[in-house]
Amino acid sequence: MHDETIALHGGYEPGSTRAVAVPIYQTVAHDFVDAAHAGAVFDLEQPGFHYNRINNPTNAVLEHRLAALEHGRAALSVASGAAAVSYSVLNVAAAGANLVTTPQLYGATYTYFAHVLPSFGIEARFAADDRAESIAELVDGRTCAVFCESVGNPAGNVVDLEAVAEVAHAGGVPLVVDNTVATPLMLKPVDHGADVVVHSLTKFVGGHGTTVAGAIVDAGRFGWAEHPERFPMFDRPEPAFHGVRFAADFPEAPYAVRARSICLRNTGATLAPFSAFLVLQGLETLAVRLERHEANARSVAEWLAADPRVAWVGYCGFPDHPSHELARRYLGGRAPSIVTFGPKGGYDAAIRFFDRVRLFKRLVNLGDAKSLVAHPASTTHRQLRPEDHARAGVTPDMIRLSVGLEHVDDLVADLDAALSR
Ligand SMILES: *Cc1c(COP(=O)(O)O)cnc(C)c1O
Repeated sequence: MHDETIALHGGYEPGSTRAVAVPIYQTVAHDFVDAAHAGAVFDLEQPGFHYNRINNPTNAVLEHRLAALEHGRAALSVASGAAAVSYSVLNVAAAGANLVTTPQLYGATYTYFAHVLPSFGIEARFAADDRAESIAELVDGRTCAVFCESVGNPAGNVVDLEAVAEVAHAGGVPLVVDNTVATPLMLKPVDHGADVVVHSLTKFVGGHGTTVAGAIVDAGRFGWAEHPERFPMFDRPEPAFHGVRFAADFPEAPYAVRARSICLRNTGATLAPFSAFLVLQGLETLAVRLERHEANARSVAEWLAADPRVAWVGYCGFPDHPSHELARRYLGGRAPSIVTFGPKGGYDAAIRFFDRVRLFKRLVNLGDAKSLVAHPASTTHRQLRPEDHARAGVTPDMIRLSVGLEHVDDLVADLDAALSR
């Protein structure tokens, strides 16, 4: 079926109550039929639920729906996008490994890679830019994965996923793609060679600024067993899970099974079922919301570009945007409703503008139904050194708008007034 239909119905079979909305299974555990059943569920020999840190029926609907939308084989829901990013790396990395990443990243992801992973003995190697050639230079025999954001937040760069996937696979490693900004309705990284897709569902998918949530999708395609020295965690009998061999025993989606039974089971960044329910509500209307987001963003970007008080506008729907061609190719000509711009007058003018908007909410989220404004240099990216700012695609004067669903005339009036004041 089509995405719009999957977003409403995917992964859900009403049970005996015939409830149309996905029920919230607010329970910690599930009653075993008998000891044999308990053993089979624990050993993953039989599908079933046992303890809510590991799986839950409400969360399972969300997981199935996301896996279907992303053309993956299985998904894991987690408590936040940050947990999804973290698990996506820890699932394949051990001390001594390195991770190769593009430099244009969400602020917390950048900080985690640059300053937290090294304390576990995992080196993060930031490429000079997001081109496949720059990434290829850094991949070696200790690399565990290549990581990128399909559309960088806040830089707005669109990555040439097919070229990057080729480089990763030539180096014998999986490509992990954060698809938060594009959403599976604009781009399915698995169709372009990605092996793992991660999401902050907090953003467009949840869509209403109510819920922090994340997910990991496994394409189920990477040949872990072909690289046993590099990925022993998929090959050897797993001491932390009664000797299963993930690649051999779960050939459908070994990465997702391991992320659940090793990362989530042992460190517990579990998504609450009520949060899964709220994300499912958001997913139901994502397709129609995106259409309005896009139309409003285009109008706002065009208005800004024509205003003499504005120094520059970054919007990948414009032909002069460096990623315009890649956006045409990977986003089907669509453009996420993230518009960046610099008011004339640099950092100080950006701060003045930021302080004076009234309708746009000053906060560091994106993809909310409401319009949002952020100044990355003083918030999400303030802990980065100045040289890292440039690499992450953040300039001191950059204002990032997440254009929402209000009437566009009201949005333009607010921007106009804030630029005047
Ligand atoms: C917000 C965001 C994250 C982190 O997600 P949380 O749900 O806030 O933990 C990761 N990647 C991208 C691209 C994001 O925008």
